[in-house]
Amino acid sequence: MPKKKFNTKYIFVVGGVMSSVGKGVAAASIGKILKTRGYAVSNIKADMYVNIDAGTIRPAEHGEVFVGEDGVEADQDLGNYERFTGQTCTRDNYMTWGSVNLAVIRKERNLEYGGEDVEVIPDIPNEIIGQIRRCGKKNNSDIVITEFGGTIGEYQILLFLEAARMMKAKNPKDVCFVMVSYLPTPSLLGEQKSKPTQYAIRTLNSAGIMPDFILCRADKPLKESLKTTISTVCSLPKNRIISAPDVTSIYDVPINLEKENFGNELIRTLGLNSRKSDMSDWKKMSSDVRKYKKTVRIGIVGKYFNSKSMIDTYISVIESLKFAAWENKSKLELEWLDAETYEKDKRKLKKLPEYDGILVPGGFGSRGTEGKIRAARYCRENEIPYFGICLGLQIMTIEFARNVLGIKDATSEEFDANAKHPVVHTMADQRQKIADKNYGATMRLGVYPCKLIKGTKTHDAYLKSGWIKKSGNSVVLERHRHRYEVNNEYREQFDEAGLKISGVYEKGDLVEAMEIDKHPFMIGIQSHPEFLSRPMNPHPLFYGFIKASLKKN
Ligand code: GLN
Repeated sequence: MPKKKFNTKYIFVVGGVMSSVGKGVAAASIGKILKTRGYAVSNIKADMYVNIDAGTIRPAEHGEVFVGEDGVEADQDLGNYERFTGQTCTRDNYMTWGSVNLAVIRKERNLEYGGEDVEVIPDIPNEIIGQIRRCGKKNNSDIVITEFGGTIGEYQILLFLEAARMMKAKNPKDVCFVMVSYLPTPSLLGEQKSKPTQYAIRTLNSAGIMPDFILCRADKPLKESLKTTISTVCSLPKNRIISAPDVTSIYDVPINLEKENFGNELIRTLGLNSRKSDMSDWKKMSSDVRKYKKTVRIGIVGKYFNSKSMIDTYISVIESLKFAAWENKSKLELEWLDAETYEKDKRKLKKLPEYDGILVPGGFGSRGTEGKIRAARYCRENEIPYFGICLGLQIMTIEFARNVLGIKDATSEEFDANAKHPVVHTMADQRQKIADKNYGATMRLGVYPCKLIKGTKTHDAYLKSGWIKKSGNSVVLERHRHRYEVNNEYREQFDEAGLKISGVYEKGDLVEAMEIDKHPFMIGIQSHPEFLSRPMNPHPLFYGFIKASLKKN
């Protein structure tokens, strides 16, 4: 590896005032604007909870569990990092308060501290620093962007702030801080207020950190007079106070940040050479999207209800649908369909033809599954495009077994551990783990090869999108997160009756994808294609699903 001409640079993105104002998108956008200048970037998310990873947190509580290439079960922000920068994430890109402490304790048990006593300060911050540096080194990054979850006022963040402060103290020229702060506009006053941001800056100061940039999130662009105020209070030149108003599409954020000259200022602050940025493809995407007249109406049948939690729970699925709609020159119209309504009232199924396509995403547990099975049946019998992801594939299999093969009590062992006809059953290596309640990071996780079966619609979709070649071996790498699988004992019956296997994991003899042969589009896949979709390069199955849906419409 050639030696770099400059030290690796580190950017810390921290939140002031309140969370959930787009800190993840800001960190991803920083990655994007630096990458478009030809710098190699890595993004890291540090979460403040004791959980070792996000895998054990309910999605309605925390949002989607994003699965990295190596199977890390991480925060949904990693999805934004991948979609904005195109960089593949692994466990190097994710840490939690729990994982950092566990690493220190493991080292202590292995005598790696050479008989010294291990202290919260500096050993915990040193572990954080070590992980950040390692990520940069392993990925040969020029710049590592680390986002701290939550806000600077929280007790749990102190050791992380201390780590960042220590890095800055050691190499002041190589480290900079971006504080993402919210400026509310109270309805009674009707004007933006900067005081909460001023307090947040002081809180950060009390941790020994001076922000280099304040990214001001607000519903409207920041007023010039407020730029002046904030600049005075935090002793920063006005050009380091960046306006970041609400946008209709998050993919416009890097474009807007460039308009504020943020990219140039950032690299100047880090002592890097100025380079031209090229975001023409994103700009084109952003302006094209505004012009599309056609809409494609997709219903997602799920169980997490209240639309904020739905969006966070299925964020990668939603973004993948958008990318696929855009590549089909159309706009996405999305609706949440509560699976349980189909259990209470079958007549509600009659509304399904209003949608151009129905998607059943991943999920856990039995709640709502009977409703999903009914929806799948309706889609099959009425030729409505259906796309099943992970649990959505398993649902499609159960439905077919019950209503075509006539196995009335067909089900999954996940829903009934004593099932007589488990057409979906527990994977062999999962049985002991479930019995031992050994749930953390023990599913079938991360990338496994899926061999696509020639002549199937699934194979065709990958071929058409150019993700495989006609002459190639038709093996694709997809990311997984599951404990149950289609039961091989029923394979032949399925095949004979028209539910074809379209993808397999040969080594483990597992079904990876299935499809109904006589249907415009009824495909289920065991893995999570939503983690691989990118702007301007949607996953082939999402693209094919939207294409089929538009045809129906
Ligand atoms: N609950 C199912 C399983 O564990 C599906 C998982 C998923 O949809 N991610 O196999």
